[in-house]
Amino acid sequence: MIKKNDEFEILITDMSDDGAGIGKTDGFTWFVKDTVIGDKVVAGAMKLKKSYGFARLVRILEPSPKRIDPACPISRSCGGCQLQQLDYSAQLAFKEDKVRNDILRIGGFDNNDIDPIFEHIVGMDIPFRYRNKAVYPIRRAKDGRIISGFFAGRTHSIIECEDCQLGFEDNRIVLDTVIAFMEQHDIEPYDEVSHQGVVRHVLIRKGYFTGELMVCLIINAPKLKDAEVLCAELKEKLPELKSFTININRERTNVIMGDKLVNVYGPGYIEDIIHEADGKAGVSFRISPYSFFQVNSLQTEKLYGTALEFAGLSGSEKVWDLYCGVGTISLFLARHAAKVYGVEIIPAAIDNARENAAANNITNAEFYVGKAEEVLPDWYAKEYSKTHENIDLIVVDPPRKGCDENCLRTMVSIAPKRIVYVSCDPATLSRDLKYLCQNGYKLERIRPVDMFPQTVHVETVVLLTKR
Ligand code: SAH
Repeated sequence: MIKKNDEFEILITDMSDDGAGIGKTDGFTWFVKDTVIGDKVVAGAMKLKKSYGFARLVRILEPSPKRIDPACPISRSCGGCQLQQLDYSAQLAFKEDKVRNDILRIGGFDNNDIDPIFEHIVGMDIPFRYRNKAVYPIRRAKDGRIISGFFAGRTHSIIECEDCQLGFEDNRIVLDTVIAFMEQHDIEPYDEVSHQGVVRHVLIRKGYFTGELMVCLIINAPKLKDAEVLCAELKEKLPELKSFTININRERTNVIMGDKLVNVYGPGYIEDIIHEADGKAGVSFRISPYSFFQVNSLQTEKLYGTALEFAGLSGSEKVWDLYCGVGTISLFLARHAAKVYGVEIIPAAIDNARENAAANNITNAEFYVGKAEEVLPDWYAKEYSKTHENIDLIVVDPPRKGCDENCLRTMVSIAPKRIVYVSCDPATLSRDLKYLCQNGYKLERIRPVDMFPQTVHVETVVLLTKR
């Protein structure tokens, strides 16, 4: 029997949803962080439960053929990329399995239902440098230098890193310029223990297709001394700088952004475009420091392109887009439908959705602020009962917790011919698919999309049709 602190040999045969290796000794299951499928390792027992335990990697005896050297030197301590030590094709296989297994296990479907309709995951050709948004904390290191980096998983200790391999290369230039400016102008980085110091974070966003660059400094002070000087320095090094703002956050909090935004340069936003497919028309979006916008632009086109393909629109359809954010999917669909109604809980996002519609001359999209599980039943009770307006398609793209049952129930009552479910969590997706398939729908197509290479996250698009 293995006890705490014992070291033992183990072969890793599986991986958990959060990317830890899984192996067995005498029927006992071990989760071993930092290992991948196929590794033979020495592990150190840390915590034991009745039938499973957690162990750390002590040393690798025989590396898995799927193991590679991580591109990033801090990948193990940072925790942001759980799969960097796994070959990309194995990452994709891991994600396909995760989606398939959840749909089988949680959704209660069987292989015969799934096999004919499960499509290969849409991966990236170059699975690095895809993030169009970066938030770097700025702190003083123990040796006295001002540094940027990332907090080691769930801690307050910062690991120096200026060049996250998921982010654009410009980030390093922005950070170098900000830090050099702070040193020249005696501007202190923030310190959370004393709640003193000025510069807390640097937020950088870049339009993937337009190249427009946004920098926002988040500070613990009423204003940034010589902000114009910093702006001029940034602009000289990065002529694509289109927006420079200062965000004031004077609270003792882990929340990154404060409520007050001061504009230093530019219109307060950048623009980017999402195309329907390679070389095809696109929809442009304004992105402000607060906006939600998908972080992987190339894959977003693949994701929304899949939603559009599954939607099968001919131009005459009426559509609901639930959980619509800044209206990205709604506007994408609007060009191919008669009418799109969008629903989103955050009022500012709906303001952006309306602005985005106007900027793209889209007049057949209408947006509602509120909870999907309240707005849709309300509309059903008040409007639908009078007009019996025929809805052809409902698209949902909920947060991780999935759809509220009230929302699903109303969707079933409205009875559109098609439902397109875009999901960032295969477990809640599977739960909701079970409900919809018990209530008159059938699975038609399933296609996962890799929006976040190197991490364990996976998006899935599912088409359901009315039986
Ligand atoms: N479809 C958008 C946003 C998807 S993220 C895009 O692709 O950009 C999910 C969105 O659901 C977020 O914008 C979040 O604010 C919103 N949301 C969360 N709970 C909600 C609810 N109960 N009703 C409506 N919207 C909700």
